Amino acid sequence: MTACQLAKKSTVNWDVCPAIESAQDAISKSYWTESAKAVVTSARDGKHSKQTAHDNGNAIDLRISNLFPERRLNNRVWYTLVRDFAHTLASALQRLPSAGRFDVVLERDHIHLEHSVGRVPNITGWVPDQFVYCNPAVKAILDPVNPKAAA
Ligand SMILES: [Zn+2]
Repeated sequence: MTACQLAKKSTVNWDVCPAIESAQDAISKSYWTESAKAVVTSARDGKHSKQTAHDNGNAIDLRISNLFPERRLNNRVWYTLVRDFAHTLASALQRLPSAGRFDVVLERDHIHLEHSVGRVPNITGWVPDQFVYCNPAVKAILDPVNPKAAA
């Protein structure tokens, strides 16, 4: 019996690898620490344009719009909180006994969670930080270029 199952959007094809299957509880608990519910928006569904870990059931996408709703007015503050949350989630996942590792990618409107077996992701321009990768667009919001710092 799975201790806890994540909520899924009706379009989700939940046909995932055992590591992700058994990570549901940890994902759920991480969300609950922020008083939010974990919702899977995509798993092994066909809407991903190029070959991705989704095709093999090694990745899922998680909703982030329900996190820190009271802070959404300030994009930078909000993404900072969501990035911190991504780190919390990544730490919880690394503590699981599942084989391989989990990479957490903060996209503009979701968290992409990938179980990679021995493979280190090589995403050009993306910034690795302890299993958390930030989409360049998000990174630009988090750390805007400061003209004064360049002087
Ligand atoms: Zn994804």
